[in-house]
Amino acid sequence: MSKQLRKRQRRSRASPPDAQPSNLRRFTIRSWAITEQLLRRRRDRAAILDLMGFFDWLGDSNLEIIKRSLPPLPCKTGCDYCCYVSAEHPDVLPVEVFRITSYLTGMGSAVQGVVRDRLRAAAAGAVEEASSRSPCLFLTQNECLVYPVRPLRCRAQHSPDAEACRQSYLGHRDTIPLLSQPALLYESLQTGIRLGLKDLGLQNSRLKLTGAIGVALQEPESLTRWLTGASVFLEVESPVAGDEERLVTQFARQAKHQARNEGRQLQSVISTLLERPGEWASYTTSGIVPLGTDRSGKE
Ligand code: SF4
Ligand code: SF4
Repeated sequence: MSKQLRKRQRRSRASPPDAQPSNLRRFTIRSWAITEQLLRRRRDRAAILDLMGFFDWLGDSNLEIIKRSLPPLPCKTGCDYCCYVSAEHPDVLPVEVFRITSYLTGMGSAVQGVVRDRLRAAAAGAVEEASSRSPCLFLTQNECLVYPVRPLRCRAQHSPDAEACRQSYLGHRDTIPLLSQPALLYESLQTGIRLGLKDLGLQNSRLKLTGAIGVALQEPESLTRWLTGASVFLEVESPVAGDEERLVTQFARQAKHQARNEGRQLQSVISTLLERPGEWASYTTSGIVPLGTDRSGKE
């Protein structure tokens, strides 16, 4: 293969951006461009699953890059102190809610029954207080019921100190000591998705997980209505943090032309999202990347 052809092939594939703070803005712009371009042309449940599968890859591959520069982390299956949550956390975006409810639909009636019982208990205010926080709706036998499709906020949670997480769970300290790089990475991703949804006139607020899952499961038309611009989650929006809305608006103005450029550079991703429905969605469960890159994002 000629040197030129190899160069051209490398350019045609989208490798994940390095997740250094200086690149986080670019990371947001990419998320924005992909969300906006895909949902403008494919607007249904399958498109949401593909979109979120793509963001799983983008997050996973950049997280790998971050982890390589850190000492081994104590986070592991069964370590669930970070899954005792408040009413507002983890917050989720509407696209995350619909992906989780789609996943639940495929899990069979027993699991769905458990979730519905917990939703009823939560609505009745009968959730048992095991500590200063409550177990998340999906926490079951120390594991997450919806782990493959867990919210971005949960994917962002990595701590260098499991004992400090335990102390937080016991109420001896206010917060768990989260590593900032993964948190910023997923924050950038979430902001980009919000901007894309906002451009399309779709409700893009951060939502309370339990309440939003309740709405999506109890109102069969919620997805169809949300896709046409209805604010179906108005009652379960999370409080807006600080001046987030102002920053999002400011960022949107400044970066609009950059988003269009990023969109052009990401044509290979957009093509797979438009022309091969289902392939990015399956990344979440299979780990297979439609672009032919491995999990670490190497070509
Ligand atoms: S963030 Fe803390 S509680 Fe959560 S898995 Fe990691 S060490 Fe365990
Ligand atoms: S959704 Fe899953 S990972 Fe996230 S807090 Fe709940 S149980 Fe934990």
